[in-house]
Parts: sequence; C-alpha cells; structure tokens
Amino acid sequence: MTAALDRMMDFDLSEEQRLVRRMVREFAEAEILPHVERCEREERYPTDLIAKLPELGLLGPMIPEEYGGSFSDVVSYGVICEELARVDWVVASVVSVANSLVAGSLLEFGTDQQKSRYLPGIAKGEIICSACLTEPRGGTDLGNMETTATKVDGGFLLNGTKVFISHADHAGLFFIVATIDRSLKHKGVTAFVADPREMEGLTIGAFPMRTLKRDNLAEVHFEDVFVPDDAVLGVPGRGFPVLGKALDMGRFSVAARCVGQSQRAIDLAVPYAMEREAFGQKIGEFQMIQTKIAEMVARTEQARLLVYRLGRMKDAGIPRCSMESSLAKLKASQAATQNALDGMQVFGGYSVTAEYEIGRLLMEAKALEFGEGTSELHQKLIAEFALGIRTQ
Ligand SMILES: Cc1cc2nc3c(=O)[nH]c(=O)nc-3n(C[C@H](O)[C@H](O)[C@H](O)COP(=O)(O)OP(=O)(O)OC[C@H]3O[C@@H](n4cnc5c(N)ncnc54)[C@H](O)[C@@H]3O)c2cc1C
Repeated sequence: MTAALDRMMDFDLSEEQRLVRRMVREFAEAEILPHVERCEREERYPTDLIAKLPELGLLGPMIPEEYGGSFSDVVSYGVICEELARVDWVVASVVSVANSLVAGSLLEFGTDQQKSRYLPGIAKGEIICSACLTEPRGGTDLGNMETTATKVDGGFLLNGTKVFISHADHAGLFFIVATIDRSLKHKGVTAFVADPREMEGLTIGAFPMRTLKRDNLAEVHFEDVFVPDDAVLGVPGRGFPVLGKALDMGRFSVAARCVGQSQRAIDLAVPYAMEREAFGQKIGEFQMIQTKIAEMVARTEQARLLVYRLGRMKDAGIPRCSMESSLAKLKASQAATQNALDGMQVFGGYSVTAEYEIGRLLMEAKALEFGEGTSELHQKLIAEFALGIRTQ
C-alpha cells in the first residue's frame, strides 16, 4: 500500500490506537491471512486461527481488565475489528459477536454472578459466543418473534427455532431472545444467557448455505429446553432494550468490519491494476480503472470516518447513538459490497477464479448488509430521525 493511503487510514487516531492497528495488522497478516484461503477451500471453521487471538488480547477488547479483558477504548475496538476483517471475516465475526452482542450486554445488564461466570472465559478464548436472534419467519421484525419462554418452577422452557446462527456449533455461551407472551410483541421479549452444552432438548443442525460455508451457520431448535431463572439477562419482558443496546454496539463492530473488507478490496485491486497489462500498458493507467480505484478509496474513507466518529461518540459516553450507528452500518456495508464489485471488475474474469481472493469478498460483504439490521431497516431509521418521527 502507498504511503498516501497509509496516512489517510490513520487519520485522527491517537498514537496508542495507531500502535493497536500496527500490532493487529502484523499479527493478522502473519498468523491468519496465510491460512484463510485453505479454510475456505476446505469449508472449515477456523478454530485453529481463533485460538491464536487471546494471547494478544483480541478476544476481549470490550471486556475490562478486572474480567481478564483488554479494553482500552471503543475506537481501538473498532480498529481491531477492521484489521481482523481485512484478512478474515469469520475471525472478525467471532470477536464482534462475543464483544458487541454478548460481553457488552453482560456488562450492562448482567448480574455479578453472570459477569464473573462468563466474561473471563470469553476473554481467554475458552468460551465462543453465539447470538440466537433470527427466526425462519424473519430477522428484521424481531418484536414479532415466535420463540417462546414459558415460566416454570425455577426457570423457563424455551421452544422455537433460530436460523442463520453463526458459531453455534462451537459455542460455550448462547445469547438468546424469546418472548414470554407473543401478544405483548416487543414488551414480551426476554433475553437469556446460557451454556448450550447444558441444554437438554437443544439441537443444532447445519443451515443450508450456497456460499460462506466455512462460517458453519446453524439452525438451532429449542424443544422444551429448560433455562434457570438466573439465565435471564435483565428482567423478563424487558429484553427489547437489552437487544437494542446489543445491536447498537453490534452495528459499530459490523461497520468497522465492513471498512476492513472495503480496504482489502483496495489492497487487492491496486497491485493487480499496476501489474496487469492490456493494449501495451498497465490497466491502472486507464482512466476508467483509475476512476474505480478512486471511488473505492473515497467510499472506504467516508465509511471509516463514520465508524470512527461513532466510536468516539461511544467513548465520550453518549448512551445511544442510534442514528450515527445506522449511518455507519448502512454506508460501510454498502461500501464493502461496492468495493468488492469494483475490485472484481479490475480483476476481470480472474475475479471469479479460485486463484484470486477478490471474488470471495463479494458474498461476505453482501452478507454484512443483512446482519445487525438490513440496509432497508437503517434507511428507514435514518429517515425517521431526519423527519423527526423518531428521537432515539
Ligand atoms: C452470513 C450471515 C450470518 C448471520 N449470522 C446471524 C447470527 O449469528 N445470529 C442471528 O440471529 N442472525 C444471523 N444472521 C441473520 C441476519 O441477521 C438476518 O438475515 C437479518 O436480520 C435479516 O433478516 P431476514 O434475512 O429474515 O430478512 P427479512 O427480515 O425477511 O427481510 C427481507 C427483506 O425485507 C426487507 N424489510 C424487512 N422489513 C422492512 C421494512 N420495515 N421496510 C423496508 N424493508 C423491510 C429487509 O430489509 C430485506 O431486504 C446472519 C445472516 C447471514 C447472511
């Protein structure tokens, strides 16, 4: 990468945050990147790569030191997600689900017992986390969920099905949302944290995917699965705010991952454009290819600024930054998809061969337009804020 791009990328980070970036980039390029394409070919979940993360504190960047984590600030967390996603989206997803959705919720809503039971294990890499939110009839309209939590002596019985669940087969901790009363819509939603290995009646099956197979996405069935009262995160029936907070931080880390993916497309396309020749010159000398590279860089920088601004707002203690979260998630995920498409165009037909990584980025980036709120949901939220229909 050129010095000019390097300078733009580090814009406005503190010295410590730049050091974090350098450390994660060196680690990711040396320890993760060389193995990713092999995992992709073998359709294999990267357990061995994930095992390398705790030594550098990369599994607990949002977990405070008292629980064995490495938290310093939210922007640094974003930088970590960005740099990991630049080399491997599954590894980045493990960090993002564990920290944004699960550890963040435990820290805000968990009891002392829940925090000390789970947080140190997450930071050490002993507990992989999985978030069970999406259902067969839809992931966007979560207030309308069908999975039920029925009160029984000492706990709840869970019944229902969750789909598209990342990391489920490898998880030592599930973050689950279910409703105690469907007629109450979002006011019935309850959040739970529990160890899936202790759940009788739970089945985890493969979710049929055309692509993204090394993610091991799962379909999770709960059939009269008992979870004790102390598995409730927060208060029964008050799980929607827990979910809202979790997704708000999830949007930040997913947006940061999208910036990493966008950057990767640039990092792949630039050297190719300066090496591949047509009509006796490098294709990077054609203005139409230069326009693509320029747009790729511009949209990555726009997305990065939105993400870092959001991180700084969170570091400043602004409790909910919903509009800024939606802006960052919408623009960063669209940038990742468009950069993958433009990058593919630079590679021509080779973009769809097994020899080059660029084509793989497209499906990964597109999938990031769905998770933690689809583009349409974020457009709706942004418009409602702009129109004054929504204030938080
Ligand atoms: C690779 C991958 C990993 C995933 N990992 C997880 C995971 O770990 N845990 C988990 O719980 N889920 C996971 N998901 C699921 C993801 O969160 C959902 O796909 C997402 O929430 C959208 O839900 P849906 O696919 O059911 O789409 P739907 O909700 O059915 O939406 C379909 C379309 O309708 C649009 N739409 C819906 N409502 C509106 C509206 N009000 N206005 C305008 N348009 C609307 C949507 O934007 C979308 O374009 C994953 C998905 C993928 C692809």
